[in-house]
Amino acid sequence: MQFQDLKLIAPILKALDAVGYTTPTPIQEQAIPIIFRKNDLLGCAQTGTGKTAAFAIPIIQMLSYSKVKTAKKNIRALVLTPTRELAIQIEENFNQYSKDLPIKNLVIFGGVGQQPQRDALKKGVDILIATPGRLLDLYGQGYIDFKHLEFFVLDEADRMLDMGFIHDVKKLIKIIPEKRQTLFFSATMPPEIQKLSSHILVDPIKVEVTPESSTAEKIQQEVYYVKKNDKKDLLIHILKEKNVGHALVFSKTKHGADRIVKDLEKKNIQAAAIHGNKSQSARQNALKNFKDRTLRVLVATDIAARGIDIDELAFVINYDLPNIPESYVHRIGRTGRAGKDGKAISFCDEEEYAFLLDIQKSIRMEIPLVEQHPYAMHISGVAPKKAGAKKSGKPASSSRNGQSSSITSGNRRRPSAPRSDSRNRSTSRRRDS
Ligand code: AMP
Repeated sequence: MQFQDLKLIAPILKALDAVGYTTPTPIQEQAIPIIFRKNDLLGCAQTGTGKTAAFAIPIIQMLSYSKVKTAKKNIRALVLTPTRELAIQIEENFNQYSKDLPIKNLVIFGGVGQQPQRDALKKGVDILIATPGRLLDLYGQGYIDFKHLEFFVLDEADRMLDMGFIHDVKKLIKIIPEKRQTLFFSATMPPEIQKLSSHILVDPIKVEVTPESSTAEKIQQEVYYVKKNDKKDLLIHILKEKNVGHALVFSKTKHGADRIVKDLEKKNIQAAAIHGNKSQSARQNALKNFKDRTLRVLVATDIAARGIDIDELAFVINYDLPNIPESYVHRIGRTGRAGKDGKAISFCDEEEYAFLLDIQKSIRMEIPLVEQHPYAMHISGVAPKKAGAKKSGKPASSSRNGQSSSITSGNRRRPSAPRSDSRNRSTSRRRDS
């Protein structure tokens, strides 16, 4: 299928051509016709699938058809998203696709001065992209009028829940007109999100794209067993020896992210951190420099990195393994986008071994183990590998359907089957729920 087959208007086709998209992604192929038919949509899709364009393109096209003039303060489409970084990226996408159309997009988020946002709202906006807190704040001050709202997009609904925005979302639902078209996107569908979706959608059509496990399979993955105290030296070793140009490094904590940056800077490796304690301008600068490739290493916490879209990001390094398997999938999904090669390297210390098992179970494959490195260590409770053992080719012991990794070459080996994981599981598992 081509974009022309989706009955897109010429200015949008031209804009897509300019950004270099040749064919629609599966979510775009499925969602765009549904949105054109004015149905509500329930999209189960994560970042990296092209979901932003899947809602942005039809909204732009439908708004440019409609005859309603933008009166001052009248918002016609609202996109609600959990983080500032995502909000900025979504606005960039809207700007790209609507560049030859008389559509005014605006992004508003917290952590920066309100006055420029108030001024921009006063001038009139068609499409507003917002994070919940600032949106409700400016609405409360009378700068936003939803009377003419035609589209409401709820992006990353599951993350809204994780970040504690669900009450703000519910508040907003009471404010916006009942008669509207609603597009609801979530990577996962926990019960609370299902409940929310049934509350705010009317006869929705569900679109689901590639389950997370297959996303993970497209990305080359490796795990290094390493002592906690050796992680910084291993990171420097990998950055220097493994031909890693630019890398996004994930840290469990904000403090840890700052410490990694300091350790790298001591070795003259340019790095910057993004996390919730950094000012908005510091976060934006770091992201911009990383995208421009003037910054080599970006160190991020999960929330700060959520949805970051960086073209051609070849390496993701999990300095700490996340305790929630979905976070692992989201993290490694920053690389290997749109069919490009990507590699995800994970460090695993003794305490994190239980997380590794959970992750492997969730992605239904064993992550190949790199045994030969200067900081290699043995994880107690894991049977040592027999001398001379090569790749087993076996799926993870917990695998239900035997899907295996696409990695078959090189000197990587699969981890040995653990003798017992009960100790690690009971001591180091820290699930939130
Ligand atoms: P998203 O899931 O919206 O975060 O998009 C992920 C990445 O895919 C972004 O870099 C988009 O610019 C890119 N993208 C979206 N649609 C297409 C397409 N049809 N062809 C190629 N790249 C795309």
